[in-house]
Formats: sequence, structure tokens, C-alpha cells
Amino acid sequence: MMSQSRTMGAPAVIVGGGLVGCAIAYYLARRGLRPVLLERASIGAEASGRSAGGVRAQCRDRRERHLAMASIKLWQGLESQLGFDMEYVQGGNIRLAADEERMAQLANEAEEELADGLEVEVWNREQLRRRAPYLSDMFIGAKYCATDGIANPILATWGLAWGAKQAGATLLTHTEVVGVEVQAGQVVAILAREGGNDFRIETPRLIHTGGAWTPQFSQELGIHIPVSPARNFIGVTQAMPPLFTEFVSSHDLRVYLRPARKGHIHIGGVATSVGTFDKLVPSEALRHLARGALIVPALEHSSFLRTWAGTLAMTPDRLPIIGPVDGIHGYMLATGFSGHGFCLAPIVGRLLCEWVVDGEPSMPLDDLRLSRFADV
Ligand SMILES: Cc1cc2nc3c(=O)[nH]c(=O)nc-3n(C[C@H](O)[C@H](O)[C@H](O)COP(=O)(O)OP(=O)(O)OC[C@H]3O[C@@H](n4cnc5c(N)ncnc54)[C@H](O)[C@@H]3O)c2cc1C
Repeated sequence: MMSQSRTMGAPAVIVGGGLVGCAIAYYLARRGLRPVLLERASIGAEASGRSAGGVRAQCRDRRERHLAMASIKLWQGLESQLGFDMEYVQGGNIRLAADEERMAQLANEAEEELADGLEVEVWNREQLRRRAPYLSDMFIGAKYCATDGIANPILATWGLAWGAKQAGATLLTHTEVVGVEVQAGQVVAILAREGGNDFRIETPRLIHTGGAWTPQFSQELGIHIPVSPARNFIGVTQAMPPLFTEFVSSHDLRVYLRPARKGHIHIGGVATSVGTFDKLVPSEALRHLARGALIVPALEHSSFLRTWAGTLAMTPDRLPIIGPVDGIHGYMLATGFSGHGFCLAPIVGRLLCEWVVDGEPSMPLDDLRLSRFADV
């Protein structure tokens, strides 16, 4: 049975307690805005807490490269700013090439990255052997970015949530946003549900960071958001003596590996199952992840201690949707990160905060607005 609704007020409401929502809450609260964040499960329960935690600027579309580079500058100072250990390490990122075609693609990408000020190195077979002797000899070269790194996904999300709370944000977990009230084209309130209790928050500003679940909610506003779910897997090996610090990936084998602080290696699949919210890990996924040993032969006799799946929010062009929605004043999106939003979260948080508080972001985001999909 539902209880009577109560009403509260907030200068801004954030839907979603993933890394992106928590980053926005953190930066808004630091500017004195005291937002309310609502998460229907727990903080970091979905993609953010299930991520591989790769904090990478290399191998990105040019339209988001500058954001990733700016975000990494924020990552470098976050732990000390928050006083929270996120296990952030700038251990480097190696993208491997198994054939000449991949090598040529990486070399072209390197030219563009260097022109944009991202310091990457293209390694031939001999340089790869020397710089990363733990790798198998099936690769003919690689592209390397020393400033890329990793963080612990759940600790990073909790760290930003904690920082947001310390700075004055209100975080309501196990609370779902179930509706929005719009009057004369302006957001005026959201409707939320916690257990059997419905309540209303009056607000002129709704920032929607609902990940793969964003379209379900927005369609009630008559807005089509082209975000689809996709499943991705991670397997965690037994702890091993320290072997490498880099995030290593091969798009030829469709597998990546990254070390965790206590010696476990997290192995993820580049391939995803599109169109599902299912989080089961089928046996084919385990066979796929076992390809990690083709990249790092020292893993040949290790076994997986545990596995999990998470839900990516994919857009048609694999770029996020960030910014205000035309036609509904006060409604902003930060969603559709298409499997690589972990790195971007701090800069997206800061820029959306600037948009709300200062009226415009300090870096251009026009290429990433929802309006680019007007014909989809
Ligand atoms: C296995 C895996 C590996 C990954 N590896 C990397 C990587 O190495 N590097 C990288 O950059 N990215 C990676 N990603 C992607 C990255 O994790 C995501 O892009 C990023 O975490 C997106 O964060 P988010 O806050 O947008 O979404 P989410 O973390 O999914 O958060 C959205 C939240 O909104 C909540 N929500 C939705 N609707 C409502 C509602 N109506 N009311 C209240 N709450 C609601 C959900 O419960 C959820 O917690 C990976 C993802 C997965 C699954």
C-alpha cells in the first residue's frame, strides 16, 4: 500500500548514483548548490561498480579525446582532494596489434593523438618485447600511452559519493525516480518512490544519468533517447606476483587485462551482447575471457576466482549524450557512455556543474548533445 506523498525542494536533482551522477553531485555541492541525488539501488550498483576502471585517453574518437585528457588531469588530483583511496594508478595503457592492418590503424590514430597533444608512442615488435616482456610474441607492435591508468571502480564511485555528501549533497539510495512534472516546457518537480512511499521533490533542474535505463524514463516526456543496453563481462584471476602495471588490450582477440592492487588480474571482453539487461555470465564468456592467457602467457595455469557482468549504455555512434535537451527547460542528460564513461566522469561532472552554475561549460560539448540524433 502506498503512503501519502510528501514534498521537499532541491536546486537540482540527479537521477542515478553511478560514477557520472556522483561526479556531478560532487562538483555541484562544492559550488554550494546542495543537489539531491536519487539512486534506485545502491551507489555504484550498475556499470560504474562493475567496470574495469580503465582511465584512458588513447584510442578514442576525436570528439571526446579532449574530454578524456582533461578528465585525467582531474583524476590526478581527486584522491588527495577527497581524502579517499580510489586505487588510482597511472600505470600506462598498451593497445596491441596482431597484424599489419591493426598496426597501420594504430599508427594513423597516433598521428591524430599527437596532433591533439596526447603523448603516445608507437612500438614495433622489438620495442614491445623490450618494454613489455610479459606479453606473448604473437603481437607485432602496439601503441602506448603513459598517462593512461586505472582506478578501483567501486571505490572511485563511493569516493565521489562520499565527497558529494561531505560537500552538502543529499544522496537517497534505494529510491527510484518514477516521474517528472513539466509545466510550460519547464521542469518543476520529480516524483520518487522509496519502498512503498511516494514523494515529490520540487526542482527546476533534473540531470539524468540513468545509464542504460535512461530511455525508459525519458519516453514519458516524449523524448526518444537512442541508448541500448549491452552486456559485458569481467573475470578475476587468483592473486599473482606483480607482473605488469599497464591496462593491456587487443581488439584482434577482443580481450583486455588490467592488474588490481592485490595481484589479481581482471580480464574483460571487448565484445558485448547487445540488447540485453541480463547479467548472467554464460560459459562461452568464460572461454572468451580465457583468451587473456594468449596475451599474458603467465596466466595459462591460473583460474578465475569470480566473474560478473555489467550493463553498458550504447549509443548509435558510441559517443555519450551530454547537455540540455531542447524543448524541456531544466532537463539535462549525461548518459550513453558506450562502455568508456568511467574515465570521463570527473570532467563530465565538472562541466555539467559549470553549465548549471555558470550558464555554460568551459569546454565545448556541442558535438555530444542529443540533438545530433534528430533523425534517428
Ligand atoms: C564490465 C564493464 C567494464 C567497463 N570498463 C570500462 C573501462 O575500463 N573504462 C571506462 O572508461 N569505462 C568502462 N566501462 C563503462 C563505464 O563503467 C560506464 O561508462 C560508466 O560507469 C557509466 O556510468 P553511469 O553513471 O553513466 O552509469 P551507471 O553506473 O550504470 O549508473 C546509472 C545508475 O542510474 C540508476 N538509475 C537508472 N534509472 C533510475 C531511476 N529512474 N531512478 C533512480 N536511479 C536510476 C541505476 O540504478 C544506476 O546505478 C565498463 C563497463 C562495464 C559494465
